[in-house]
Parts: sequence; structure tokens; C-alpha cells
Amino acid sequence: MNPTPLTRLVLAWVVLALTVGSAGATPQPVPLRIPVAIAAEARTEASKTRLTITLSQEVEAQGFLMERPDRVVIELPEINFQLPPQAGIRRDGLIASFRYGLYAPDRSRIVIDLTQPALISRLDVTTRPSDGAALMTIELVRTDRESFRQAVRPPDPPSTGSISSSAAPGPADPRPLIVLDAGHGGIDPGALASTGVFEKDIVIAFAHRLRERLLADGNYRVLLTREGDVFVSLDERVRMARAARADLFISIHADSISSAPHVRGGTVYTGAERATDAESANLADRENQADAVAGHDSRGGSNEVADILHELMLRETRGFSHRFAKKLLGQLGPVMPLSKKPHREAGFRVLRAPDVPSVLVELGYLSSRKDIDLLTSDAWRDRTAAAMTAAINQFFGARVAGQRLAPVSP
Ligand SMILES: [Zn+2]
Repeated sequence: MNPTPLTRLVLAWVVLALTVGSAGATPQPVPLRIPVAIAAEARTEASKTRLTITLSQEVEAQGFLMERPDRVVIELPEINFQLPPQAGIRRDGLIASFRYGLYAPDRSRIVIDLTQPALISRLDVTTRPSDGAALMTIELVRTDRESFRQAVRPPDPPSTGSISSSAAPGPADPRPLIVLDAGHGGIDPGALASTGVFEKDIVIAFAHRLRERLLADGNYRVLLTREGDVFVSLDERVRMARAARADLFISIHADSISSAPHVRGGTVYTGAERATDAESANLADRENQADAVAGHDSRGGSNEVADILHELMLRETRGFSHRFAKKLLGQLGPVMPLSKKPHREAGFRVLRAPDVPSVLVELGYLSSRKDIDLLTSDAWRDRTAAAMTAAINQFFGARVAGQRLAPVSP
């Protein structure tokens, strides 16, 4: 028997009450008052496409349009999305696909990619008398480019600054501060593995493990740019590291090349204006799109390039980034497969802090079944976190050797 909407609603509430966060992430209790989204259905008639989202209770919704690429963004309070895994990827009329998730603390979004310019002709939430479920209707109507352009308005920036870790630095603490930057999050899922696992979940699980490992010895302070499944803009990640006066910034990702499922292995990237090769340039372009994916307007965010002092500082800092990348590869080599060219450079937005040595680690390829199995295994997480900790110990060895660090093995 198929569950009725009401049964599913009840089930969703049970799931919510027992919820332990998304797959692979550290268990996180979810407050019970958060509305649950349990179903999504799109329907197209003539020039209109209607997306209906079934929710456990009424919510306030606001919509706006963004251009390049053409998108509809629906602003919502925090929603616990319990939609089927493939809910957002079916093309229907004006809707190419849609994403959903946390955009900022207490704020969720639905971002709809459009197949052609469209306006929001209806956006409301009503209660269905039969079972008390709330139905949110997003109705889109086809329009011309000029009318779409006139209707586009820039969104408000997200207030992501308050999500910083509880491990924020105390001014008197001399221990190096390591910032771990788990890529993507919330409304931006990152790459999707063939097994249905998202990059955002794999990298946050690893970041948590690495933090545990680093804190265990007491040699470091650790700050995460995101604790849970929430969107943080690229510039905000860099800003947090700089504001906290980080000593090292490690961005963690897991790429995908769907055209080459046999390609696998980890890669360490350092920042550079010119990419090592076309593949690295493409990857940096994709990762730099993270803000656009979430409907976040980042234009004009980091044009400090003109500043010559900034450039000089960046160049010097990049020397340290290279040094750390080499140590990291030296430690990772024995414990995990590396890609053909394991140290590469490219113009990643998150590697632009002029005063914080920064690397971006692609743990492996989600397009490779072997890498997926590895990256989702506890044993791999443990030994990779240990190897990274060893590299960090080496990097800071000279500086903290006299304090608490044990001698580092050769
Ligand atoms: Zn990524």
C-alpha cells in the first residue's frame, strides 16, 4: 500500500524527532518546530509551470529572480527538506532543475534553474483541509528577456558571519589556528556521487574527523567555516579565516568527472592566477560557481587585485602554501591514491587570502566508484586525518617544537 500524504507527514515528523543529520555528517539535533517539506510536484500547462511543495505547516515565502544563469529564488525560514533524492533534477516546462537547503542560519532557499526567462505569477501557501498539510505554490509564467531583466533584483547578502565555530580563537592562545573549510553546504550540494551521496556531506564528515584528530593532541586551535549543512559564500570563508588570524587554511572538496569514471585519486591545489592545465582551470571555474548555485550575488566581492601590497603579500604567502602542499602530499601518498599530477595550481576564490597559507584538497573523484567507497569509509577517514595531522605537525614543527609537539618522524 502506498502511504497517503498524511501518513507520510506523520512519518516525516517521526523521522524528524529521531533525526541524526544527513548521511555521513555528525549527528545534529533538529529543533521540533522546523517545518518539514515532504513532497514536490511540478506541472506544466501552456506557458505556465507550477511547482507545489507539501509542507508540515504554513511558512512565509518570498521570491525573486536572478540572471546569468536565469533563476528563481524562494526565500524561506529554515525547512527540514525530506524530499526524495531525485526530487529536484527532473526537467519540467520552465523548470530545468531545482535545489533546496539551508542558505544562512534559520533561512532556507529553493533555487529554480529556468529553461527560459519567466516571472513568478503566483507564490502562496495554503492549508489543505483534508489533512492539514500546507501547500506552497510557485507558479511561473514565460516572459521575454527584457521583462525578465527588469524584474531581476539583487538579493540581500546572507548573514553567515554568525555560524563560526565555538572553537573561535582566544587572543592569548599562542597555538596555531587551523581553519578547515568543508566545501559547499546547504543549498549548494557540490558534486553528486553515482551512489546518491553529495560532496557537501562527504567533506563535512571528513572536516569533523580531522578537527577531532587535531584537537586530540592539544597543539592547535581549529575553526570550521561551516559546522553543519549550511551555505557559506566563498568570500565569507576567506573573510572568516583572515578575521580569526588563521595560520593555515585547508579547503576540502571531492570532485567529479562524469566522462571519466576510471580517473581517481586525491589532488592538492594551491592558488595561482594561471592554472597548471585546462582541467585545473575548469575545476576552479566550477568551484568558483558555488555562490551562483546558491543564488548568492558575489560580483565585486574580491577585487583587491589592484593593490600592489596585497599582491606582494599574496606571493610571499603562496610560498608557504606550496611548502605545506608538498608536506601534505608526502604524508598522503602512502595512505591514499593520488591523481596523476597530485600538486596543481588554479585560481580558486577561496585561496586568495593574502596573509594565510591556503590549500584546497580534492580528496578524490565522486565519479569513481572506488573513490566513493574509500571516501565514505571510516578507516579511510581515520588514516587520512592522521596523515594530514602529521603534515600539519611538520609544517608548524619548527615553530611549536619547543612547546607541546612531540618530535616529528622523518
Ligand atoms: Zn567542491
